[in-house]
Amino acid sequence: RETLLEVNNLVTEFRTADGNVQAVRDVSFSVSKGETLCIVGESGCGKSITSLSVIGLLPSNGKIAAGQVKYEGKEIQSLPYEELRKMRGNKISMIFQEPMTALNPVLTVGYQLREPLMLHHGLSKSEAHKQGIDLLNQVGIPYPEKRMSQYPHELSGGMRQRVMIAIALSCHPGLLIADEPTTALDVTIQAQILDLINELKEKLNMGIMLITHDMGVVAEVADKVMVMYAGKKVEEGMVEDIFKNPKHPYTQGLLNSVPNVDDPDFELEPIPGSLPSLQEKIQGCRFHPRCKFATAKCKELAPPEINDEQGHMVSCWLYEEEEVKNGQLVTQN
Ligand code: SF4
Ligand code: MG
Repeated sequence: RETLLEVNNLVTEFRTADGNVQAVRDVSFSVSKGETLCIVGESGCGKSITSLSVIGLLPSNGKIAAGQVKYEGKEIQSLPYEELRKMRGNKISMIFQEPMTALNPVLTVGYQLREPLMLHHGLSKSEAHKQGIDLLNQVGIPYPEKRMSQYPHELSGGMRQRVMIAIALSCHPGLLIADEPTTALDVTIQAQILDLINELKEKLNMGIMLITHDMGVVAEVADKVMVMYAGKKVEEGMVEDIFKNPKHPYTQGLLNSVPNVDDPDFELEPIPGSLPSLQEKIQGCRFHPRCKFATAKCKELAPPEINDEQGHMVSCWLYEEEEVKNGQLVTQN
């Protein structure tokens, strides 16, 4: 598979009243064509900030302090604003959790679909209208002609998210970033939107970066999974490996807090405690205040990233011996 997006050692910082704080701490990953990477973690873990860093949409007090973002081999993190804006129009699209806020309530669906097509692709109004209808068809919206003249509030939440996806697809993006795209929807509609995302990935050979807090969503769409905790990547692997053999205590906790319909005796075991604030200084492993396996060493030293032969990575001292045995221990802070 061809690599589309490559992120190396990304550090994203925010200026605050208490000085600079790091929201993303030395995170690396990649997304290939036809592949879905799920970034998973609790709200505030840095997953949204990671995606906003990629697409160049950080709030004004945020900046990429170190690292590299490459799209199709080309560095984009330091592109001038205008060029980055063009990339967003042509190569990378993003959809958000609440389509009602992303859609303009006073403009028709048709207007909002036609505008980028006329702007970025130089289509005439009637050409753009025709393509708008095609796009609505593509995302499974019935009676697309009628929908074109409707306003966002006339559509259901699921239909609005389909419209957002249609708008995102209008520029034929290579990469689609979806931040909690189904969180606001009820379960049945959620499943339909995830099916649509899977179908579009296959058909258009897009790379997808999907951000979620929900392991159920991960199970539906992920090829690859990256688990984040307090700004760090704590585990990464193929979806089968993550579900069959979750290594990090935090990943195990995330899986234990998903109801299991196949096992009536399964007891939910939420992870105790809460995510630290960005300002909080934590020595050693950033998960140690919540980890039932934490040792004195965990409180002292940050664990290294430990890889197995399958490319399944975990950052946790519990796996140190495995690593020493393989003769490839790399220590980092
Ligand atoms: Fe828990 Fe220690 Fe592993 Fe951190 S390094 S997750 S504290 S066992
Ligand atoms: Mg978020």
